Amino acid sequence: MINIINKAITLNADTQVKQKAAVKQMQDLIADVSTWVKHKVLTNKDRANLEAKGYARDLVNNLVYLTERPSSQSSEDSHVTGFTIEAFDPSIYASDEIYQHFTNINHHKCCWCERKVASDGIISHFRPSYGRRENGQLQRLAYYKQAYNLDNLMFSCRECSEHYKSDRFPTIEKHQAKAHGIDDELPLLVNPYFEQPRDFVRFNPVTAEAYPFDLICQFYKDKFALNQVDIVTKLQSDIGNIPSINGCSDLDKEYQQWLKSSISAQVLSKGSTTIDVLGLNRPSLVRQRLEVCKQYRAIWLASNSEPSTPETNKIKQHLENIANAEAPELTFSALLIDALCYWQLDNNQDWDSDHQPTVKEEIAPLAISPLLRSSLIYIVLDNELSLKNKRRIIQLNNQDLLYSSTTGKCVFLPIDWNNDFSNVIKVHENNHTWETSFSELNASRATALSSLFANAEVWAEGNYCSIS
Ligand SMILES: [Zn+2]
Repeated sequence: MINIINKAITLNADTQVKQKAAVKQMQDLIADVSTWVKHKVLTNKDRANLEAKGYARDLVNNLVYLTERPSSQSSEDSHVTGFTIEAFDPSIYASDEIYQHFTNINHHKCCWCERKVASDGIISHFRPSYGRRENGQLQRLAYYKQAYNLDNLMFSCRECSEHYKSDRFPTIEKHQAKAHGIDDELPLLVNPYFEQPRDFVRFNPVTAEAYPFDLICQFYKDKFALNQVDIVTKLQSDIGNIPSINGCSDLDKEYQQWLKSSISAQVLSKGSTTIDVLGLNRPSLVRQRLEVCKQYRAIWLASNSEPSTPETNKIKQHLENIANAEAPELTFSALLIDALCYWQLDNNQDWDSDHQPTVKEEIAPLAISPLLRSSLIYIVLDNELSLKNKRRIIQLNNQDLLYSSTTGKCVFLPIDWNNDFSNVIKVHENNHTWETSFSELNASRATALSSLFANAEVWAEGNYCSIS
């Protein structure tokens, strides 16, 4: 990751008006329904009344209003309001004008992994607009007001955005009191548009793996009372000075010991959290970084061994620019800064060009679409609280067969995407029942998904707990 120069953009007047109107409508609508009682279900009659008050149909149809029973039995049912992803208009937050702006300032690179992104780049949200996941549950109200805020938008590849970051947004609260707004929270993810990522994440030039620079600086300050300049020199001059949580050198062991006694330093490390959430050391990505490193190593060696000519001088200047962070357009430019600084300090070092990722190969996290995450939920009717082998699933919009017509008491339960994803899904439609899966639903288009839930009863079969 590198710092992305966030040049100002003035949106056309029409887009600005649409943005403001959309946010105001959402705020007013939420305020309107916040006085409703717990366990009431949002019926289509309620939606019609809200629409009659002047709220936009797309917003009303994708409004979420329910009473959720948390996974932990000790907590009370909670009143939940918010919106599904369908309520947010991509023609406003990801218009051609905005897309063009972000691809330009990003040099067509993903803001997280720094790979070049062709047509599959997407405008994503730093603070997830439909809610953020905390301990497996979606906190819906969290950030809907940030959906159209330019400062909350980013340009990234689909893999980083949907497989890794998704709706994860770890924060700590500035004050002991529960956070009430974004001013009260400190995000634990680095925002490359407003911060210098190199203050938090740097790269080992030999393994091409990202390491939490902020955490390692803290370690050196605590244990060896070094200042920042000395720490940087130490880390750049010898990769043996970059301690690892998996290593077994004396320094590694000392670092691991320090981590155990400094849990708070680890929790507060933006570098560590960002590497973890974005999967910056996923083996496929590390392999691509190693490949680029190898190419530049060859160029660097050649430029040093060949006699000085206008051509080699030009290459040397280019390499110098990379080392000085003046080549942000390059793929993996942050890694190349660390690699060139390292090579320049000691060009005799033995560099293993066949290095392989040390992080274990792991299955990439499931990319569950924002549509599923924000709109599917279990509904448990009053007379079904003791059911253990199946759970009804609904889609939270005005089309859903059950959600739009239920008037009796019921509770809603979040879907445990990690544990329930492999459960069989049964669909009952037109007097016959057929099977599908979460994977198939995940791959469905929005219209197909809506049509399914509008016309059929859908449930998942599995080993569930009774909640009565
Ligand atoms: Zn990426």
